[in-house]
Amino acid sequence: MPQTSAFAYIRQGITPFFRLPQIDVHAASPYANLDAVVIGVPYDMATTYQPGARFAPYEVRRVSALLQSFHPVHKVDVFGVLDVRDGGNVAVPPFSAALSREVIENEIASIAGAGAVPFAVGGDHSIALPALRAVAKKHGPLAVVHVDAHFDTSDAEVWGDAYHHGTPLRHAIKEGLIEPGQLHQVGIRAIWGDRHEADLALEHGAVLYGVEDVAKDGGGGVAARIAASVGQRPLYVTFDIDAIDPAFAPGTGTPVPGGLSSREAIALLRGLSGRSLVGMDLVEVCPALDHADITSHLAAHLIYEGLALLAVRLASLRR
Ligand code: MN
Ligand code: MN
Repeated sequence: MPQTSAFAYIRQGITPFFRLPQIDVHAASPYANLDAVVIGVPYDMATTYQPGARFAPYEVRRVSALLQSFHPVHKVDVFGVLDVRDGGNVAVPPFSAALSREVIENEIASIAGAGAVPFAVGGDHSIALPALRAVAKKHGPLAVVHVDAHFDTSDAEVWGDAYHHGTPLRHAIKEGLIEPGQLHQVGIRAIWGDRHEADLALEHGAVLYGVEDVAKDGGGGVAARIAASVGQRPLYVTFDIDAIDPAFAPGTGTPVPGGLSSREAIALLRGLSGRSLVGMDLVEVCPALDHADITSHLAAHLIYEGLALLAVRLASLRR
């Protein structure tokens, strides 16, 4: 679906993701016949430290208008190949975490159920659990690339609540949403709570790619190893922006020094070309902590890189 021209976009004064057409939220089947949907999930009530990620969909929408369609490396006209729309936001009830999870899962299940690939812009990382549930319901156990400074496999021991933004991968593993051996964690570097912090994921056959691996092999080198392992399994990418060094992504609630550069992150996603992407989320962007929209611009680019992966694949299937 072609983008609205930059000129028409300014004239209209509305700011959908990537200048895309918007779904009709009142239609009976708003996601029918689409290849992909970019949807905001403005929920941050599961944040342990600095909240504010609920506003990311609005900021990422605004800055995403700068992105054009033609991918300079994949050589694909992303919005020409894909019929992709701005799906609006999930209307989350902010006062009930359980109900929010349910509403998010239902909305993303509607997208996946209609045959479109969901791209969710969080929100805090807790939204990845209902998103993964919805996508696994459609495709079965997934290969997951988890890009993050943190393992996100915590339990209820610290906060007395098993559902917050530090726990989605624990539930995803325990609920069988991820195929054993197909959890690929990139950029993890936060100081551990104790020496057993990695155990749950490693018992499940997770593969860790530390910042040292990325520094040594580049984003593309790490992606090549992941891509070889994933093969043609249904692939879900859950991208916590705090995987990126705070110098490149200051607008996030739990920053950890020593992370990926923007260039490494983009190379990582580009290197997954040819895989079967069935869903993606981009979480933990906190506009109030950002400077000059640095983090929102990167978030928009990373979602665009995800859309480009889908466009490459669909273009080759239709050829
Ligand atoms: Mn994190
Ligand atoms: Mn996270």
